[in-house]
Amino acid sequence: MNSITQTLQTNTIENLFFPSPTEEAPPLTTYYNPGFNIDFTERLLGKKNGNKVPRSTQTRLDTMQKRLTPLIHPRVSFGIYEISKIEKGIVSLAHHTIFHSHKMAYSLKGAKRAVIFIATIGRQIDAEINNLMRKGELANAYVADALGSGAVERLVEQFQKEVAAELFNEDQEVGLRFSPGYCDWPITEQTALFSLLDSKTAGVKLGKTCLMDPRKSVSAIFGIYDQGKMRVKHSKNPCMRCAKKDCIARRTAVAEEI
Ligand code: SF4
Repeated sequence: MNSITQTLQTNTIENLFFPSPTEEAPPLTTYYNPGFNIDFTERLLGKKNGNKVPRSTQTRLDTMQKRLTPLIHPRVSFGIYEISKIEKGIVSLAHHTIFHSHKMAYSLKGAKRAVIFIATIGRQIDAEINNLMRKGELANAYVADALGSGAVERLVEQFQKEVAAELFNEDQEVGLRFSPGYCDWPITEQTALFSLLDSKTAGVKLGKTCLMDPRKSVSAIFGIYDQGKMRVKHSKNPCMRCAKKDCIARRTAVAEEI
């Protein structure tokens, strides 16, 4: 059976596919539990500073969660790459791929390897959102859109936690995620990221404008570091010294445990 551990040990590019429950093939891994990052979803719907969303939104969220859960079909394709050089604003991989982002370069400093991945929850939630729009159920479509983002966020968190747990035994830890189009990483570098992975296995296509199809997909990189005294998610967080106070992607001091 394929596993993240084997992938890490062989250090080759492997693909991880989570079949939908309706498919016959046994799952390669069973750790993914479909669901939603509700806090993330609620923040997309306008929740601020620990306040609750209005009761009507809460009711709609509960209803839509039940409706959308069976439509989540997660897949992740990923590879582990040596980092050959990091200099001001430039991250070079051993495979001659170069990424340009000052914040990412700051965060990846000290990492010898990086995980690069494409994750998706499939296209059924996209289809349901379009269906709701066609029927004029705009409020439901809005909530479904936020929940779709919350579902792929949860998938990515679970994937990263699984990798982190494997590496923990080897005295290594993982850092913060960076995605093209966020922070100061140009979205045009999606093309370079996609060139490293088997996007067909991930089931994700890259459009001419570098947007992904299905829409509820995430592509990203995170570093692998030797364990130190302080978690790299704290010490390598560029948001702590960034002046962009109104940034919606701002990471607070991360208190996440492996
Ligand atoms: S606050 Fe926003 S722009 Fe600044 S480092 Fe964090 S994510 Fe990037």
